[in-house]
Amino acid sequence: MPGFEFFGAEERKQVHDVLETGVLMRYGFDGMRNNHWKAKEFEKAFAERIGSDYCQLVSSGTAALTVALASAGIGAGDEVIMPTFTFVASFESILALGAVPILVDIDDTLTLDPQAVEAAITPKTKCVMPVHMCGSMADLRALNSICKKHNLILLEDACQALGGTYEGKPLGSYGDLGCFSFDYVKTITCGEGGAVITNNEKYALHADHYQDHGHDHIGKDRGAETHPFLGYNFRISELNAAVGIAQLNKLDDILKTQKENYTILRETIETIEGVTFRRVPEGGEENYSFLNFFLPTAELTQKAHKALAKAGVDACFYWFTNNWHYINGWEHLRNLKSLGKLSAEVRSQMQDLNNTDFSKSDAIMGRTISSLIKIGWTPKQVKERAEAMKSAILSTL
Ligand SMILES: *Cc1c(COP(=O)(O)O)cnc(C)c1O
Repeated sequence: MPGFEFFGAEERKQVHDVLETGVLMRYGFDGMRNNHWKAKEFEKAFAERIGSDYCQLVSSGTAALTVALASAGIGAGDEVIMPTFTFVASFESILALGAVPILVDIDDTLTLDPQAVEAAITPKTKCVMPVHMCGSMADLRALNSICKKHNLILLEDACQALGGTYEGKPLGSYGDLGCFSFDYVKTITCGEGGAVITNNEKYALHADHYQDHGHDHIGKDRGAETHPFLGYNFRISELNAAVGIAQLNKLDDILKTQKENYTILRETIETIEGVTFRRVPEGGEENYSFLNFFLPTAELTQKAHKALAKAGVDACFYWFTNNWHYINGWEHLRNLKSLGKLSAEVRSQMQDLNNTDFSKSDAIMGRTISSLIKIGWTPKQVKERAEAMKSAILSTL
């Protein structure tokens, strides 16, 4: 996920437009801003690129998830189903609203297992949050029909899958709401930033108000605006939004290079007997930001991961023991370690995560290795990496 590899003159020019006027805020100061509205411009361009009616920029991907949930009316005691393999932002955003994260198994797509989702539904369930990890998607057709059947909101976390598609639609645009991150290691970056997309006019209006203290954004005098409901401050700054405009223009080139590099690595290691790949649901196309593969056993996978590091192959991840992305590493969540007291609903409704059976997820994550795909590699470097990966893996099988 290489936005950070690609910072150049275009980004500097965009930021300069903002620095020249000094209007660093996205609202107001109309006379001073020389007609630069970077956040608005990025929102318009991003909505067009993703094919959604509305886009709301915010300060991070975590903020985007929080704003999306709040906009759909999720609050105290509402249950949100999320996967065991994701980023900590999933449960952080849910808990921030007093809602309850319900963790369920993943399958060989490395995303939510639809059967596990259906089994976890209770009368308190309000939302299903698939997370399109490492460039590829959940089985959105199956999840959508579960959501329709039980009248639940489908919220896609597409933070790691910008540019991937499912049934011809850009990821993030299939569900009721979609979220993106533009942090420094995502496919495109603003430094820090995020976006909520939706075709639902009401959710879009809620998101617009909620991320700016509940401001109604009517008229030209911020001080005179009213607050139809409570909000918070999740605004993006004009400087960050400006970077995003330049990055978005590079997205198609980034995706093209990712696919080329991914394909070389994949074609080299798929010749190894015992190596299989993460399942991409039918009708889906990855964004090729990672190459995700399985080895036959957890033991062999750990050996291969060590052999890759020893061979100098960088950026290969073994998520099973990683602190950020898998439930094994979330000791603070499993034991509900918070600074202050959590709400009564959270304390009474949370699963006992230390004693919940996630053996199905373990069986998959224990055998998964993901190689980051960089766009800065030269063709020679990609070929060398492919061969180094192949011999490191072969040496352990
Ligand atoms: C990066 C990421 C987020 C959060 O994004 P930030 O902008 O870093 O807050 C959420 N979900 C997933 C899957 C991510 O990878």
